[in-house]
Amino acid sequence: MSLPKNPITAELIETLKSQVKSSEILIPSSAGYAEAIARWSEAAVKSAGAVLLAANAEDISQAVRLAQQNNVDLAVRGGGHSVAGASSSDGGLVIDLSRMRKVTVDEEHKTITAQGGCLWADVDEAGGKHGLATVGGTVNHTGVGGLTLGGGYGLLTPKYGLVVDNLLSATMVLADGRIVKTSATEEPDLFWAVRGAGHNFGVAVEFTYQAYDQVDQVFAGILGFQPEKLEAIIGVLNDGLDHPDEDSTAVCVLTTQPTNATPMVCTVLFHRGPEKSGREAFKGLYSLDPIMDHVKMIPYPTVNSLANPMATHGGRRNIQGLFFSHPMRPAFARSVMDMYTEKMAADPGMMGTAVLLEFFDMRKCASVPMEATACSNRGMTLNGILSSRWCDEASDAANRQWGRDMQQLFIKEMERKPAQLTDEVPMYINYSSRKFTSLSSS
Ligand SMILES: Cc1cc2nc3c(=O)[nH]c(=O)nc-3n(C[C@H](O)[C@H](O)[C@H](O)COP(=O)(O)OP(=O)(O)OC[C@H]3O[C@@H](n4cnc5c(N)ncnc54)[C@H](O)[C@@H]3O)c2cc1C
Repeated sequence: MSLPKNPITAELIETLKSQVKSSEILIPSSAGYAEAIARWSEAAVKSAGAVLLAANAEDISQAVRLAQQNNVDLAVRGGGHSVAGASSSDGGLVIDLSRMRKVTVDEEHKTITAQGGCLWADVDEAGGKHGLATVGGTVNHTGVGGLTLGGGYGLLTPKYGLVVDNLLSATMVLADGRIVKTSATEEPDLFWAVRGAGHNFGVAVEFTYQAYDQVDQVFAGILGFQPEKLEAIIGVLNDGLDHPDEDSTAVCVLTTQPTNATPMVCTVLFHRGPEKSGREAFKGLYSLDPIMDHVKMIPYPTVNSLANPMATHGGRRNIQGLFFSHPMRPAFARSVMDMYTEKMAADPGMMGTAVLLEFFDMRKCASVPMEATACSNRGMTLNGILSSRWCDEASDAANRQWGRDMQQLFIKEMERKPAQLTDEVPMYINYSSRKFTSLSSS
Protein backbone atom coordinates (compact mmCIF):
# COMPACT_ATOMS: atom_id res chain seq x y z
CA MET A 1 0.00 0.00 0.00
CA SER A 2 1.46 3.40 -0.91
CA LEU A 3 1.45 6.25 1.60
CA PRO A 4 -0.44 9.45 0.80
CA LYS A 5 1.98 11.88 -0.80
CA ASN A 6 3.12 15.09 0.88
CA PRO A 7 3.35 18.65 -0.42
CA ILE A 8 6.88 19.98 -0.81
CA THR A 9 7.98 22.17 2.12
CA ALA A 10 9.97 25.43 1.98
CA GLU A 11 12.84 23.59 3.65
CA LEU A 12 12.90 20.86 1.00
CA ILE A 13 12.80 23.49 -1.74
CA GLU A 14 15.92 25.09 -0.22
CA THR A 15 17.60 21.67 -0.05
CA LEU A 16 16.78 21.04 -3.71
CA LYS A 17 18.12 24.46 -4.68
CA SER A 18 21.42 23.59 -3.06
CA GLN A 19 21.57 20.24 -4.88
CA VAL A 20 20.75 21.14 -8.48
CA LYS A 21 23.50 22.62 -10.63
CA SER A 22 21.89 24.04 -13.79
CA SER A 23 18.10 23.87 -13.37
CA GLU A 24 15.80 26.63 -12.19
CA ILE A 25 13.23 26.20 -9.43
CA LEU A 26 9.98 28.18 -9.49
CA ILE A 27 7.65 28.65 -6.53
CA PRO A 28 4.16 30.24 -6.62
CA SER A 29 5.58 33.76 -6.17
CA SER A 30 8.18 33.37 -8.98
CA ALA A 31 7.91 35.15 -12.33
CA GLY A 32 6.94 32.53 -14.92
CA TYR A 33 5.20 30.24 -12.40
CA ALA A 34 1.73 30.64 -14.02
CA GLU A 35 3.17 29.67 -17.44
CA ALA A 36 4.97 26.73 -15.87
CA ILE A 37 1.82 25.19 -14.39
CA ALA A 38 -0.34 25.95 -17.48
CA ARG A 39 -1.46 22.86 -19.38
CA TRP A 40 -3.14 22.10 -22.73
CA SER A 41 -6.39 21.70 -20.77
CA GLU A 42 -7.18 24.34 -18.18
CA ALA A 43 -8.91 21.58 -16.21
CA ALA A 44 -5.51 19.93 -15.73
CA VAL A 45 -3.87 22.92 -14.06
CA LYS A 46 -2.83 22.35 -10.43
CA SER A 47 -0.90 24.59 -8.05
CA ALA A 48 2.45 22.88 -7.67
CA GLY A 49 4.51 23.66 -4.56
CA ALA A 50 7.58 23.93 -6.80
CA VAL A 51 8.44 23.45 -10.45
CA LEU A 52 11.92 22.28 -11.44
CA LEU A 53 12.71 23.63 -14.92
CA ALA A 54 15.11 20.79 -15.54
CA ALA A 55 18.29 21.29 -17.54
CA ASN A 56 19.83 17.81 -17.35
CA ALA A 57 19.50 14.24 -16.10
CA GLU A 58 21.72 14.82 -13.06
CA ASP A 59 19.46 17.54 -11.66
CA ILE A 60 16.41 15.38 -12.35
CA SER A 61 18.07 12.58 -10.45
CA GLN A 62 18.53 14.87 -7.41
CA ALA A 63 14.88 15.94 -7.57
CA VAL A 64 13.60 12.37 -7.85
CA ARG A 65 15.73 11.26 -4.88
CA LEU A 66 14.53 14.17 -2.75
CA ALA A 67 10.87 13.47 -3.59
CA GLN A 68 11.34 9.75 -2.98
CA GLN A 69 13.09 10.15 0.37
CA ASN A 70 10.50 12.61 1.65
CA ASN A 71 7.40 11.05 0.11
CA VAL A 72 6.71 14.26 -1.82
CA ASP A 73 4.05 14.17 -4.54
CA LEU A 74 5.95 14.17 -7.85
CA ALA A 75 4.76 14.78 -11.40
CA VAL A 76 6.68 14.86 -14.68
CA ARG A 77 5.66 17.30 -17.40
CA GLY A 78 6.53 16.60 -21.05
CA GLY A 79 4.24 18.37 -23.55
CA GLY A 80 1.54 18.99 -20.91
CA HIS A 81 -1.37 17.33 -22.78
CA SER A 82 -2.63 14.96 -20.11
CA VAL A 83 -6.27 15.89 -19.58
CA ALA A 84 -6.33 13.92 -16.33
CA GLY A 85 -3.71 16.21 -14.79
CA ALA A 86 -1.11 13.42 -14.66
CA SER A 87 1.69 15.91 -15.35
CA SER A 88 0.54 18.34 -12.64
CA SER A 89 0.73 18.27 -8.84
CA ASP A 90 -1.29 19.88 -6.08
CA GLY A 91 1.34 21.24 -3.72
CA GLY A 92 4.04 18.77 -4.73
CA LEU A 93 7.05 18.94 -7.06
CA VAL A 94 6.77 19.04 -10.86
CA ILE A 95 9.79 18.08 -12.97
CA ASP A 96 9.20 20.18 -16.08
CA LEU A 97 11.16 19.02 -19.14
CA SER A 98 10.26 21.95 -21.41
CA ARG A 99 13.85 23.23 -21.40
CA MET A 100 15.14 19.87 -22.61
CA ARG A 101 14.17 20.03 -26.28
CA LYS A 102 17.38 19.27 -28.14
CA VAL A 103 17.14 16.99 -31.18
CA THR A 104 20.14 15.31 -32.83
CA VAL A 105 19.93 13.60 -36.19
CA ASP A 106 22.39 10.90 -37.24
CA GLU A 107 22.08 10.86 -41.01
CA GLU A 108 24.43 7.93 -41.49
CA HIS A 109 22.55 5.55 -39.16
CA LYS A 110 19.18 7.19 -39.84
CA THR A 111 18.30 7.84 -36.22
CA ILE A 112 16.75 10.80 -34.40
CA THR A 113 17.57 11.44 -30.75
CA ALA A 114 15.19 13.74 -28.88
CA GLN A 115 15.42 15.00 -25.31
CA GLY A 116 12.48 14.09 -23.09
CA GLY A 117 10.85 17.55 -23.21
CA CYS A 118 10.66 17.76 -27.01
CA LEU A 119 7.41 18.33 -28.85
CA TRP A 120 6.78 16.41 -32.08
CA ALA A 121 7.25 19.65 -34.02
CA ASP A 122 10.90 19.65 -32.86
CA VAL A 123 11.40 16.11 -34.16
CA ASP A 124 9.57 16.63 -37.47
CA GLU A 125 11.49 19.81 -38.18
CA ALA A 126 14.94 18.46 -37.28
CA GLY A 127 14.38 15.22 -39.22
CA GLY A 128 13.02 17.14 -42.22
CA LYS A 129 16.27 19.10 -42.52
CA HIS A 130 18.00 15.78 -43.22
CA GLY A 131 15.25 14.25 -45.39
CA LEU A 132 14.29 11.90 -42.55
CA ALA A 133 11.15 11.25 -40.51
CA THR A 134 10.02 8.90 -37.77
CA VAL A 135 6.56 7.96 -36.53
CA GLY A 136 5.19 10.80 -34.38
CA GLY A 137 1.94 12.31 -33.14
CA THR A 138 -0.63 13.84 -35.47
CA VAL A 139 -0.84 17.09 -33.46
CA ASN A 140 2.68 18.44 -33.41
CA HIS A 141 2.50 20.30 -30.10
CA THR A 142 1.99 17.09 -28.11
CA GLY A 143 5.05 15.90 -26.18
CA VAL A 144 7.30 13.08 -27.33
CA GLY A 145 7.45 11.96 -23.67
CA GLY A 146 3.83 11.12 -22.88
CA LEU A 147 3.06 9.95 -26.41
CA THR A 148 6.05 7.62 -26.79
CA LEU A 149 5.72 6.07 -23.34
CA GLY A 150 2.06 5.25 -24.06
CA GLY A 151 2.76 3.44 -27.36
CA GLY A 152 2.01 6.24 -29.79
CA TYR A 153 0.70 6.23 -33.29
CA GLY A 154 0.66 8.69 -36.15
CA LEU A 155 0.37 9.13 -39.89
CA LEU A 156 3.41 6.93 -40.57
CA THR A 157 2.04 4.07 -38.41
CA PRO A 158 0.57 2.17 -41.40
CA LYS A 159 4.06 2.03 -42.92
CA TYR A 160 6.35 1.78 -39.88
CA GLY A 161 4.21 0.75 -36.90
CA LEU A 162 3.77 2.41 -33.53
CA VAL A 163 6.16 5.01 -32.13
CA VAL A 164 7.47 2.38 -29.68
CA ASP A 165 8.11 -0.03 -32.55
CA ASN A 166 10.64 2.54 -33.76
CA LEU A 167 12.14 3.32 -30.37
CA LEU A 168 15.75 2.11 -30.31
CA SER A 169 16.69 3.26 -26.82
CA ALA A 170 15.70 5.56 -23.98
CA THR A 171 17.69 7.09 -21.15
CA MET A 172 15.73 7.03 -17.91
CA VAL A 173 16.13 8.48 -14.44
CA LEU A 174 14.73 5.75 -12.20
CA ALA A 175 12.89 6.12 -8.89
CA ASP A 176 16.13 5.56 -6.92
CA GLY A 177 17.86 8.33 -8.89
CA ARG A 178 19.98 6.06 -11.10
CA ILE A 179 20.40 7.18 -14.71
CA VAL A 180 20.21 4.18 -17.04
CA LYS A 181 20.09 3.58 -20.75
CA THR A 182 17.58 1.00 -21.87
CA SER A 183 17.34 -0.78 -25.22
CA ALA A 184 16.81 -4.28 -26.61
CA THR A 185 20.20 -5.24 -25.14
CA GLU A 186 20.51 -2.96 -22.09
CA GLU A 187 17.99 -3.35 -19.26
CA PRO A 188 15.67 -5.21 -21.67
CA ASP A 189 12.85 -5.68 -19.13
CA LEU A 190 12.72 -1.95 -18.57
CA PHE A 191 12.80 -1.43 -22.33
CA TRP A 192 9.78 -3.73 -22.68
CA ALA A 193 7.91 -1.71 -20.03
CA VAL A 194 8.67 1.77 -21.35
CA ARG A 195 7.30 0.78 -24.75
CA GLY A 196 3.64 1.28 -23.89
CA ALA A 197 3.40 1.41 -20.09
CA GLY A 198 6.21 3.83 -19.50
CA HIS A 199 4.71 6.77 -17.64
CA ASN A 200 5.60 5.45 -14.21
CA PHE A 201 8.95 3.72 -14.73
CA GLY A 202 11.08 6.82 -14.44
CA VAL A 203 11.76 10.13 -16.13
CA ALA A 204 12.72 9.63 -19.78
CA VAL A 205 15.38 12.21 -20.52
CA GLU A 206 16.22 11.03 -24.03
CA PHE A 207 14.69 8.85 -26.74
CA THR A 208 16.40 7.52 -29.88
CA TYR A 209 14.11 6.60 -32.77
CA GLN A 210 14.65 4.79 -36.05
CA ALA A 211 14.14 7.27 -38.88
CA TYR A 212 13.37 6.75 -42.56
CA ASP A 213 14.00 8.56 -45.80
CA GLN A 214 11.09 10.91 -46.37
CA VAL A 215 10.47 12.89 -49.54
CA ASP A 216 9.94 16.50 -48.63
CA GLN A 217 6.58 17.03 -50.39
CA VAL A 218 3.47 14.97 -49.64
CA PHE A 219 -0.19 15.31 -50.70
CA ALA A 220 -2.17 16.23 -47.62
CA GLY A 221 -4.85 18.53 -46.21
CA ILE A 222 -8.53 18.77 -45.38
CA LEU A 223 -11.70 18.20 -47.43
CA GLY A 224 -14.94 19.51 -45.93
CA PHE A 225 -18.46 18.19 -46.64
CA GLN A 226 -22.09 18.87 -45.80
CA PRO A 227 -23.18 16.61 -42.91
CA GLU A 228 -25.67 14.81 -45.24
CA LYS A 229 -22.67 13.18 -46.95
CA LEU A 230 -21.61 11.29 -43.83
CA GLU A 231 -22.92 7.83 -44.82
CA ALA A 232 -21.34 8.09 -48.26
CA ILE A 233 -18.02 9.25 -46.76
CA ILE A 234 -17.96 6.33 -44.34
CA GLY A 235 -18.73 4.01 -47.26
CA VAL A 236 -15.74 5.35 -49.21
CA LEU A 237 -13.44 5.12 -46.19
CA ASN A 238 -14.57 1.54 -45.47
CA ASP A 239 -13.95 0.71 -49.09
CA GLY A 240 -10.47 2.21 -48.81
CA LEU A 241 -9.62 -0.20 -46.00
CA ASP A 242 -10.86 -3.11 -48.09
CA HIS A 243 -7.81 -2.32 -50.22
CA PRO A 244 -5.42 -1.18 -47.48
CA ASP A 245 -2.70 1.26 -48.44
CA GLU A 246 0.21 1.94 -46.10
CA ASP A 247 0.89 5.26 -47.83
CA SER A 248 -2.58 6.79 -47.47
CA THR A 249 -4.52 7.60 -44.33
CA ALA A 250 -7.80 9.39 -43.75
CA VAL A 251 -9.35 10.73 -40.58
CA CYS A 252 -13.07 11.50 -40.64
CA VAL A 253 -13.83 14.41 -38.31
CA LEU A 254 -17.28 15.33 -37.06
CA THR A 255 -16.87 18.99 -36.27
CA THR A 256 -18.55 22.38 -36.54
CA GLN A 257 -18.12 25.24 -38.98
CA PRO A 258 -15.15 27.37 -37.88
CA THR A 259 -17.34 30.32 -36.80
CA ASN A 260 -20.57 28.78 -35.55
CA ALA A 261 -21.98 25.59 -34.06
CA THR A 262 -23.34 24.21 -37.38
CA PRO A 263 -21.99 20.67 -37.80
CA MET A 264 -19.93 19.62 -40.79
CA VAL A 265 -17.84 16.59 -41.74
CA CYS A 266 -14.16 16.93 -42.61
CA THR A 267 -11.65 14.39 -43.79
CA VAL A 268 -7.98 14.96 -42.95
CA LEU A 269 -6.04 13.24 -45.71
CA PHE A 270 -2.40 12.21 -45.95
CA HIS A 271 -0.76 10.55 -48.93
CA ARG A 272 2.95 9.78 -48.83
CA GLY A 273 3.52 10.55 -52.47
CA PRO A 274 2.77 12.90 -55.36
CA GLU A 275 -0.53 14.62 -56.14
CA LYS A 276 -1.47 12.27 -58.98
CA SER A 277 -1.44 9.09 -56.88
CA GLY A 278 -2.93 11.04 -53.95
CA ARG A 279 -5.94 12.13 -55.99
CA GLU A 280 -6.31 8.56 -57.19
CA ALA A 281 -6.18 7.22 -53.61
CA PHE A 282 -8.89 9.63 -52.47
CA LYS A 283 -10.96 9.80 -55.67
CA GLY A 284 -14.02 8.38 -53.88
CA LEU A 285 -14.02 11.38 -51.54
CA TYR A 286 -13.49 13.88 -54.35
CA SER A 287 -16.52 12.40 -56.11
CA LEU A 288 -18.71 13.42 -53.14
CA ASP A 289 -18.56 17.17 -53.96
CA PRO A 290 -16.58 18.60 -51.06
CA ILE A 291 -17.55 22.14 -50.08
CA MET A 292 -14.01 22.87 -48.90
CA ASP A 293 -10.76 21.65 -50.46
CA HIS A 294 -7.49 22.43 -48.69
CA VAL A 295 -5.57 19.39 -49.94
CA LYS A 296 -2.33 20.08 -51.77
CA MET A 297 1.37 19.23 -51.89
CA ILE A 298 2.98 20.41 -48.63
CA PRO A 299 6.36 19.85 -46.93
CA TYR A 300 6.31 16.66 -44.83
CA PRO A 301 7.46 18.39 -41.61
CA THR A 302 4.25 20.49 -41.59
CA VAL A 303 1.87 17.54 -41.99
CA ASN A 304 1.43 17.05 -38.27
CA SER A 305 0.29 20.66 -37.92
CA LEU A 306 -2.81 20.08 -40.10
CA ALA A 307 -4.97 19.07 -37.14
CA ASN A 308 -3.58 21.77 -34.82
CA PRO A 309 -6.50 24.17 -35.43
CA MET A 310 -8.83 21.46 -34.05
CA ALA A 311 -6.64 21.06 -30.96
CA THR A 312 -5.69 24.54 -29.83
CA HIS A 313 -4.46 25.17 -26.28
CA GLY A 314 -6.94 26.57 -23.78
CA GLY A 315 -10.39 25.81 -22.51
CA ARG A 316 -11.31 22.80 -20.42
CA ARG A 317 -10.59 19.66 -22.40
CA ASN A 318 -11.38 16.00 -22.30
CA ILE A 319 -9.97 13.30 -24.57
CA GLN A 320 -11.73 9.96 -24.71
CA GLY A 321 -10.69 6.95 -26.74
CA LEU A 322 -13.30 5.44 -29.07
CA PHE A 323 -12.71 2.10 -30.77
CA PHE A 324 -14.41 0.68 -33.83
CA SER A 325 -14.16 -2.15 -36.31
CA HIS A 326 -13.83 -2.03 -40.03
CA PRO A 327 -16.22 -1.71 -41.72
CA MET A 328 -17.99 0.98 -39.74
CA ARG A 329 -21.76 0.86 -40.25
CA PRO A 330 -22.80 4.12 -41.89
CA ALA A 331 -25.99 4.00 -39.82
CA PHE A 332 -23.85 3.85 -36.70
CA ALA A 333 -21.82 6.86 -37.88
CA ARG A 334 -25.13 8.69 -38.32
CA SER A 335 -26.15 7.90 -34.74
CA VAL A 336 -22.82 9.36 -33.54
CA MET A 337 -23.42 12.45 -35.67
CA ASP A 338 -26.95 12.80 -34.24
CA MET A 339 -25.63 12.67 -30.69
CA TYR A 340 -22.90 15.19 -31.56
CA THR A 341 -25.32 17.54 -33.36
CA GLU A 342 -27.79 17.44 -30.49
CA LYS A 343 -25.09 18.39 -27.99
CA MET A 344 -23.71 21.23 -30.15
CA ALA A 345 -27.22 22.66 -30.60
CA ALA A 346 -28.00 22.43 -26.89
CA ASP A 347 -24.66 23.78 -25.73
CA PRO A 348 -22.84 26.11 -28.17
CA GLY A 349 -20.19 26.51 -25.43
CA MET A 350 -18.94 23.09 -26.59
CA MET A 351 -17.82 24.54 -29.94
CA GLY A 352 -14.37 23.17 -30.64
CA THR A 353 -15.49 19.66 -29.70
CA ALA A 354 -14.84 17.06 -32.39
CA VAL A 355 -15.16 13.32 -33.00
CA LEU A 356 -12.20 11.91 -34.94
CA LEU A 357 -12.47 8.52 -36.64
CA GLU A 358 -9.14 7.22 -37.94
CA PHE A 359 -9.25 4.99 -41.01
CA PHE A 360 -5.65 3.72 -40.87
CA ASP A 361 -4.20 0.55 -42.35
CA MET A 362 -3.35 -1.29 -39.10
CA ARG A 363 -1.63 -4.34 -40.60
CA LYS A 364 1.88 -3.20 -39.71
CA CYS A 365 0.87 -2.37 -36.15
CA ALA A 366 -0.93 -5.71 -35.73
CA SER A 367 2.04 -7.64 -37.17
CA VAL A 368 4.08 -7.06 -33.98
CA PRO A 369 3.19 -9.67 -31.35
CA MET A 370 1.14 -8.29 -28.46
CA GLU A 371 3.69 -9.55 -25.92
CA ALA A 372 6.67 -7.89 -27.67
CA THR A 373 6.06 -4.57 -25.91
CA ALA A 374 3.92 -3.34 -23.03
CA CYS A 375 1.57 -1.58 -25.46
CA SER A 376 -1.78 -3.33 -25.28
CA ASN A 377 -3.51 -1.22 -27.92
CA ARG A 378 -2.51 -3.33 -30.91
CA GLY A 379 -4.58 -5.08 -33.51
CA MET A 380 -6.87 -4.34 -36.41
CA THR A 381 -9.33 -2.36 -34.28
CA LEU A 382 -9.45 1.25 -35.40
CA ASN A 383 -9.00 4.26 -33.14
CA GLY A 384 -11.25 7.22 -32.64
CA ILE A 385 -11.04 10.16 -30.30
CA LEU A 386 -13.69 12.33 -28.75
CA SER A 387 -11.97 15.65 -28.14
CA SER A 388 -14.28 17.82 -26.02
CA ARG A 389 -13.80 21.47 -25.21
CA TRP A 390 -15.76 23.85 -23.01
CA CYS A 391 -15.03 26.87 -20.82
CA ASP A 392 -17.24 26.70 -17.76
CA GLU A 393 -15.89 24.70 -14.81
CA ALA A 394 -19.45 24.13 -13.60
CA SER A 395 -20.04 22.01 -16.74
CA ASP A 396 -17.13 19.63 -16.06
CA ALA A 397 -19.18 16.76 -14.66
CA ALA A 398 -21.98 16.97 -17.25
CA ASN A 399 -19.61 17.20 -20.22
CA ARG A 400 -17.43 14.34 -18.99
CA GLN A 401 -20.58 12.24 -18.56
CA TRP A 402 -21.63 13.11 -22.12
CA GLY A 403 -18.22 11.83 -23.25
CA ARG A 404 -18.73 8.57 -21.36
CA ASP A 405 -22.16 8.22 -22.98
CA MET A 406 -20.53 8.66 -26.39
CA GLN A 407 -18.01 5.95 -25.47
CA GLN A 408 -20.90 3.65 -24.53
CA LEU A 409 -22.33 4.08 -28.01
CA PHE A 410 -19.05 2.78 -29.48
CA ILE A 411 -18.77 -0.04 -26.93
CA LYS A 412 -22.29 -1.25 -27.75
CA GLU A 413 -21.44 -1.16 -31.46
CA MET A 414 -18.30 -3.23 -30.90
CA GLU A 415 -20.41 -5.79 -29.02
CA ARG A 416 -22.72 -6.33 -31.98
CA LYS A 417 -22.40 -9.66 -33.71
CA PRO A 418 -20.86 -9.66 -37.21
CA ALA A 419 -24.19 -10.99 -38.56
CA GLN A 420 -25.96 -7.89 -37.25
CA LEU A 421 -23.41 -5.74 -39.04
CA THR A 422 -23.81 -7.65 -42.30
CA ASP A 423 -27.52 -6.93 -42.46
CA GLU A 424 -27.09 -3.22 -42.47
CA VAL A 425 -23.90 -2.60 -44.44
CA PRO A 426 -24.89 -0.77 -47.61
CA MET A 427 -24.16 -1.86 -51.17
CA TYR A 428 -21.04 0.17 -51.80
CA ILE A 429 -18.95 -1.96 -49.46
CA ASN A 430 -16.79 -4.54 -51.22
CA TYR A 431 -18.20 -7.72 -49.63
CA SER A 432 -15.63 -10.09 -51.06
CA SER A 433 -12.69 -8.71 -49.10
CA ARG A 434 -14.43 -7.49 -45.97
CA LYS A 435 -12.85 -8.58 -42.71
CA PHE A 436 -14.55 -8.47 -39.34
CA THR A 437 -12.62 -7.87 -36.18
CA SER A 438 -13.95 -8.32 -32.70
CA LEU A 439 -12.86 -7.01 -29.32
CA SER A 440 -11.25 -10.35 -28.56
CA SER A 441 -9.13 -10.33 -31.70
CA SER A 442 -7.75 -6.83 -31.19
C1 LIG B 1 -4.51 17.17 -29.02
C2 LIG B 1 -4.00 15.77 -28.78
C3 LIG B 1 -3.57 15.02 -29.86
C4 LIG B 1 -3.09 13.73 -29.64
N1 LIG B 1 -2.66 12.99 -30.72
C5 LIG B 1 -2.14 11.77 -30.51
C6 LIG B 1 -1.62 11.01 -31.60
O1 LIG B 1 -1.62 11.45 -32.75
N2 LIG B 1 -1.10 9.80 -31.34
C7 LIG B 1 -1.07 9.27 -30.08
O2 LIG B 1 -0.57 8.17 -29.91
N3 LIG B 1 -1.56 9.96 -29.02
C8 LIG B 1 -2.09 11.19 -29.21
N4 LIG B 1 -2.56 11.90 -28.15
C9 LIG B 1 -2.50 11.33 -26.81
C10 LIG B 1 -1.13 11.69 -26.23
O3 LIG B 1 -0.22 10.70 -26.66
C11 LIG B 1 -1.15 11.69 -24.69
O4 LIG B 1 -2.05 12.67 -24.26
C12 LIG B 1 0.24 11.96 -24.13
O5 LIG B 1 0.28 11.53 -22.79
C13 LIG B 1 0.63 13.41 -24.21
O6 LIG B 1 1.96 13.54 -23.80
P1 LIG B 1 2.53 14.93 -23.29
O7 LIG B 1 3.98 14.73 -23.00
O8 LIG B 1 2.14 16.02 -24.21
O9 LIG B 1 1.68 15.16 -21.95
P2 LIG B 1 2.06 15.36 -20.42
O10 LIG B 1 0.80 15.83 -19.78
O11 LIG B 1 3.26 16.18 -20.22
O12 LIG B 1 2.40 13.89 -19.95
C14 LIG B 1 1.47 12.83 -20.01
C15 LIG B 1 1.97 11.70 -19.11
O13 LIG B 1 3.27 11.29 -19.55
C16 LIG B 1 4.25 11.52 -18.53
N5 LIG B 1 5.46 12.00 -19.20
C17 LIG B 1 5.55 12.95 -20.16
N6 LIG B 1 6.81 13.08 -20.57
C18 LIG B 1 7.54 12.20 -19.83
C19 LIG B 1 8.92 11.85 -19.79
N7 LIG B 1 9.80 12.43 -20.61
N8 LIG B 1 9.31 10.90 -18.90
C20 LIG B 1 8.41 10.28 -18.10
N9 LIG B 1 7.10 10.57 -18.09
C21 LIG B 1 6.67 11.51 -18.95
C22 LIG B 1 3.62 12.54 -17.59
O14 LIG B 1 4.14 12.44 -16.30
C23 LIG B 1 2.16 12.14 -17.66
O15 LIG B 1 1.92 11.02 -16.82
C24 LIG B 1 -3.05 13.19 -28.32
C25 LIG B 1 -3.50 13.95 -27.25
C26 LIG B 1 -3.97 15.24 -27.46
C27 LIG B 1 -4.44 16.04 -26.30
